[in-house]
Amino acid sequence: MEQERFKETLRRRGLKVTNQRLLVLETIADRPGQHLTAEEIYELTKEKYPEIGLATIYRTVQVLVELGVIDKVSFDDGFVRYELGDAGQDSRHHHHHAICQRCGSVISFEGDLLETLEEALYDTIGFVVTDHEVKLTGYCRECAKGKENNMEEIN
Ligand SMILES: [Zn+2]
Ligand SMILES: [Zn+2]
Ligand SMILES: [Zn+2]
Repeated sequence: MEQERFKETLRRRGLKVTNQRLLVLETIADRPGQHLTAEEIYELTKEKYPEIGLATIYRTVQVLVELGVIDKVSFDDGFVRYELGDAGQDSRHHHHHAICQRCGSVISFEGDLLETLEEALYDTIGFVVTDHEVKLTGYCRECAKGKENNMEEIN
């Protein structure tokens, strides 16, 4: 079923349906909430399709990003990562990321108050916002707790 949906997505965007493209999409879609690097996508795709090369993976993710089928994300750890894009879904709004600077965990969240800001930008300076990206850095609940404990020890 999933396969059919991907084929439809590719066709709708005027892309030829190829095995490689379907496999890469499947690899990413099978791991919701994960943010894979091209190398990880390569390793995982190779399990099903050993003939695939890293260069093909790079090319394929590039094409899929350009068409908005997948999104490129960066968590400032030196890697470019990919996740399934939200393009073509009901809302144009995609999720955002909160990154723990201590343990490196990435928490996805949906809501933000940016629509208000976007409207204000339009009303005041006529700027039309077409997209935004939100990346928050801080401490996850566990690490924030640890931090408090450490501070108590010091005091
Ligand atoms: Zn943490
Ligand atoms: Zn994400
Ligand atoms: Zn947002």
